Amino acid sequence: MDIEAASDDDAFEDARDRVDRPMWQLFTEYGRGQRLAFVLGLVSSIVARMLDLLPPLLLALAIDAVIEQQTSYSLLFVPDAWIPATTMGQLWLTAGLIAASFGLGAIFHYTRNYGWNKFAQHVQHAVRTDTYETMQRLNMEFFADKQTGEMMSVLSNDVNRLEKFLNDGLNSSSRLVIMVLGIAAYLFYINWQLALVALLPVPLIAVFTKWFIETIQPKYADVRASVGSLNSRLENNLSGIQIIKTANTESYEADRVEESSQEYLDANWDAIGTRITFFPGLRLVSGLGFVVTFVLGGLIVIGQAPAVFTTELTTGGFVAFIIYTQRFVWPMAQFGQVINMYQRAYASAERVFGLMKTPGRLDEATDAPPLAATDGAVEYDDVTFGYGEDSVLDDVSFTVDGGDTVALVGPTGAGKSTVMKLLLRMYDPDDGAVRIDGQDLRDVQIPSVRRAIGYVSQETFLFYGTVRENIAYGTFDATDDEIRAAAEAAEAHQFVENLPEGYETMVGERGVKLSGGQRQRVAIARAILKDPDILVLDEATSDVDTETEMLIQRSLDELTADRTTFAIAHRLSTIKGADTILVLEDGRVVERGSHDELLAQDGLYANLWAVQAGEIDELPEEFVQRAIQRRARTDADD
Ligand code: ADP
Repeated sequence: MDIEAASDDDAFEDARDRVDRPMWQLFTEYGRGQRLAFVLGLVSSIVARMLDLLPPLLLALAIDAVIEQQTSYSLLFVPDAWIPATTMGQLWLTAGLIAASFGLGAIFHYTRNYGWNKFAQHVQHAVRTDTYETMQRLNMEFFADKQTGEMMSVLSNDVNRLEKFLNDGLNSSSRLVIMVLGIAAYLFYINWQLALVALLPVPLIAVFTKWFIETIQPKYADVRASVGSLNSRLENNLSGIQIIKTANTESYEADRVEESSQEYLDANWDAIGTRITFFPGLRLVSGLGFVVTFVLGGLIVIGQAPAVFTTELTTGGFVAFIIYTQRFVWPMAQFGQVINMYQRAYASAERVFGLMKTPGRLDEATDAPPLAATDGAVEYDDVTFGYGEDSVLDDVSFTVDGGDTVALVGPTGAGKSTVMKLLLRMYDPDDGAVRIDGQDLRDVQIPSVRRAIGYVSQETFLFYGTVRENIAYGTFDATDDEIRAAAEAAEAHQFVENLPEGYETMVGERGVKLSGGQRQRVAIARAILKDPDILVLDEATSDVDTETEMLIQRSLDELTADRTTFAIAHRLSTIKGADTILVLEDGRVVERGSHDELLAQDGLYANLWAVQAGEIDELPEEFVQRAIQRRARTDADD
């Protein structure tokens, strides 16, 4: 697979453009498992609507045959012999039939809703879980910066919109088709000439509805955009409230919020204006149709119609006709809504399937064996790598014997974290190879690589859950004793015991806030519990005070003793004892050796050490100049 493509910012957009017939995919790929629910929904929908249309017909029959006694009482598909002969009997039969059609109607409305909802909910669930799983496996580049918000919106808004269409949309459209076809058929059956007249407003309604949709859609888009910017403004201001207060900018911010809110109000008001014109307008058109049908129908019944109207109409038929004409208008008006819902669902399906087709997953041979870690020896063999066009690592080569500790030092942006990301196989090198115990990472299963490595980073993320769950995250079968022992080794046990509910205290977002140092100790406990072959400490003690650092260092020493360890550190005192120190600058290893050897070389490391140890006040001019140049380059890149 082409991994390069993923570094393209628009990989997601490109994939979206390539999606072919998204709605078809939705039904065939996800609807297949819910065929029964779909058929139940559809069939019940048809039957329920047919039953809905029955009472006016029965009413017409009752008026003509029982009350007016103009015609004889006969029912379609029912032998005349079964029909009671007395007027009373016929009245009761009609009542019974009307009651039955309502009763049966209720049952079919239930099964219709059951079917459609089941279909929609299950498809939604499957789409969401599938999309999430696919997204989770995408390359890390995908998650860099701005994509998160977009992903969130695919996972929630788009999936919900699909569900809305599958439920309401399918329901409405089936009702629409049946009502329109069914009523038109009944109308023509009762009196085809009057039916032609009664249906005259239909094209008018269609044109009117089309106008409405075309006018309202851009207005709704404005509403959505303005509510979006209003929400971001509010969110931003709430999280930055401390800055607002200290900078004394309350009134400035109040003005900005007012401005955003006013924009939202204006956009909404504009849309409301159109919306509240449409429905009364529709009522007017349908009312006009009603009056014309009423006058003409009445004239036909009493025999005074213009000569072209050669057909007959009974009183009952007239009543049924009027009722049906009224029922006809609203499904027509809904037509627009259904089309609208379909268009939105179509766009959402495109985004969902676009996400699923986004390239950028690492190539993983399906038959790859798991990594067989033995000593934890690591080798970087001429590794060159870049996130985009420019390479971030250049011909990086080094080997680490199993059990050794390697420290990576160097200025920010030198590529230290990138070296570690390649070890965790977040990315593959463009050139060269990374090997663990002689096995190229590309030739083994990805999960087995990550299982072999414990990672403690400078930014410790805690999941919303208990402290216990956070320590045991990834080692789900750990016993309480093991969890406690890990916490003790990480110097975390004491503060955890002092939390309101000890190990059962909820932490993470929405939970008790832990300090940076406490979070880091939880992360270290997590790594200790995992007991990995290789440990990566990415500035693992950066967030703690010197005293805690000393404590943690003790537990880290124990943790790293017999294990291959990579340590990234700015404070050189923490990695002084490493077996090998690699000094990186601009993606290259510029110095390597033990602490003493590097001091003897009197290069970048020796000078950094001297500054940090307070032996000299500042870096020699040569190094300062290099740093300035580097900074200028990065700024230019940004
Ligand atoms: P260090 O850990 O030494 O501070 P990094 O490995 O984080 O350095 O970064 C090395 C270079 O790669 C920097 O120029 C940085 O801007 C760039 N970089 C890091 N991560 C990404 C990324 N996800 N996408 C693009 N560039 C990145």
